[in-house]
Amino acid sequence: MTATAPIRGEAPALVARDGQAPRPDSVPIDAPLALRGVTVSYGDRPAVFSVDATFPSRAMAAIVGPNGAGKSTLLKAALGVIPRLSGEVHVYGQPIDQARARIAYVPQRASVDWDFPTTALDVVRMGLYRRVGLFGRMSGAMTDRARACLDRVGMADFGNRQIGQLSGGQQQRVFLARALAQDADLYLLDEPFAGVDAATERAMIDVLHGLKASGKAVVAVHHDLATVRDYFDHVFLINVRRIAEGPVASTFTAANLQATYGGRLAATHLDTLDLATAAP
Ligand code: ADP
Ligand code: MG
Repeated sequence: MTATAPIRGEAPALVARDGQAPRPDSVPIDAPLALRGVTVSYGDRPAVFSVDATFPSRAMAAIVGPNGAGKSTLLKAALGVIPRLSGEVHVYGQPIDQARARIAYVPQRASVDWDFPTTALDVVRMGLYRRVGLFGRMSGAMTDRARACLDRVGMADFGNRQIGQLSGGQQQRVFLARALAQDADLYLLDEPFAGVDAATERAMIDVLHGLKASGKAVVAVHHDLATVRDYFDHVFLINVRRIAEGPVASTFTAANLQATYGGRLAATHLDTLDLATAAP
């Protein structure tokens, strides 16, 4: 048999689907979250400068850096909720503006107004607002779904409690339940374990590892260097600029941490972290 001639009218291989511009080669097509050259500034000084990052699928990734390093700003830029001076954000290969529905976000607890008069169940139902449009109103099935998500984080008995009357750990669980209700593919969390007790931290980690096991991607700002190795697969070290990024096993090194924290970590502290040795 002779080689088959190209079928007339077949689309050339390089034409982008959906009429979109072809993606830059450097953006992995399947990465849950990819940032390229992202700069965010609140005034004269950039909070995040020219950051490239690629967060892997089916993984737990930590964003680590000192206070004021731009970690929360990076997450907000990844969500597309603050203006970027420059740069691109892609979620599963799509520009962020087309992909927001695939992301769930748990904000830093300190940034939330807890006096807002609303119940725990209402907070979770807010996670379902994108679905409300389908029915025009909050259906009973959606309330059931919200209750099931509260149950998954051990808060089934607290649905009618005012959010401001819950402990810090309980509030974090409710916000995780809201993220679960969204049934997203990518979960962004800003210091989810800050100010929570050990039992809540364990419960939340179990839920997050369950998300990973079901094929989701998790990216969390994480302040506790001692648990990075236990909890996470991938680490992104930032101090306004990207310092290092990669698998925890090869990237979470003393040298990278000192570069991130400006040499301010005590050697005795580093000794307790069971760090990877620098790659050859
Ligand atoms: P991190 O989460 O790593 O502690 P942030 O992203 O919150 O850091 O902040 C990075 C820098 O940007 C800090 O210097 C902070 O003071 C500044 N910043 C954060 N949010 C704002 C804002 N809304 N307006 C002005 N400056 C801000
Ligand atoms: Mg922060």
